[in-house]
Amino acid sequence: MIDLRSDTVTKPSPAMLEAMMRAEVGDDVFGEDPSVLALERKAADLLGAEEGIFCPSGTMTNQIGINVLSNPYEEIICYQGAHIYRYEGGGIAGTSGLSFRLLEGNRGRLSAREIEENINPEDIYYPKSTVIELENTVNKSGGCYYTLNEIKRIYILAQQHGLKMHLDGARLFNALAETGEDPNDYGQYFDTISICLSKGLGAPVGSVLVGHKKWITKARRVRKFMGGGMRQAGYLAAAGLYALENNIDRLKEDHIRAKALGEVLSKCKFIKAVNPVDTNIVIGQLKEGIKMADILAQLKKKGLLAVPMSTMEIRFVTHLDFNDKNLTQAIKILKDFS
Ligand SMILES: *Cc1c(COP(=O)(O)O)cnc(C)c1O
Repeated sequence: MIDLRSDTVTKPSPAMLEAMMRAEVGDDVFGEDPSVLALERKAADLLGAEEGIFCPSGTMTNQIGINVLSNPYEEIICYQGAHIYRYEGGGIAGTSGLSFRLLEGNRGRLSAREIEENINPEDIYYPKSTVIELENTVNKSGGCYYTLNEIKRIYILAQQHGLKMHLDGARLFNALAETGEDPNDYGQYFDTISICLSKGLGAPVGSVLVGHKKWITKARRVRKFMGGGMRQAGYLAAAGLYALENNIDRLKEDHIRAKALGEVLSKCKFIKAVNPVDTNIVIGQLKEGIKMADILAQLKKKGLLAVPMSTMEIRFVTHLDFNDKNLTQAIKILKDFS
């Protein structure tokens, strides 16, 4: 079975497992796990941030990042398809008590201009606009990415209006594989950045939130009350360290395979159009009258797994456990539908 439902389906490689088995560990709630401390240091340094905090999931790092930057009754500005809005179980409303200002963007990428039009004036009628949240790459629209120049413009606007910036960088390294920009340049533009180790980077579990020291100090308290304080978490952190050291440089491969897959998909009879393939996510729009469940079942029968992204959008994601041999096989399966 070729599993392209998500880049979260990867399993640790033998070398990653070995790194995990060798990990030095301690009680991380006491701040005594050397592997967790090393991962937090490495992630912060890599992204040009002061400090980092290791958490079980990207949902938690997003929830914590936004929580430390805001107060209840305030408003967060983001894309209407943002993960924090669509796929985190409504968490922001509960954990931070914020209202959402949802924008369309250009395939989910917000511009400084669109954001500026949606910052509330200082008036007791309106919730106070507090945080701008960007997602890079943008999952829902098919993995498109920002350039640092666009982000810089948004940062300048945020500075002018006293707004905070959070980045959902679940797939930030996929974006950087395309732009060639230095991750170290990112830290200066965001108060908090969440990165996932368990997506394209191939670790079994974990995300890191990085940012200014004052935010990460606050984040330790929030992580605790959310139940995210883990004990000998160094076994997991070691996988994350291995991922950051070994699995960033190869991401471009996933993008090349995704492009090849997108081309073949566009010729399938059940497909109307395929979104531009910018990184490792391929989204195809089904023709009218085609039933998603039928297509998914037929693909599965032939050995290929995908997921629905909406009622008429099918998604394939390439990843570390999908090699050229798998690609040839997946192309063969899709060609049966052309
Ligand atoms: C996967 C993902 C997350 C975090 O998901 P977890 O499964 O909680 O780790 C956050 N944002 C985006 C855009 C994602 O794709």
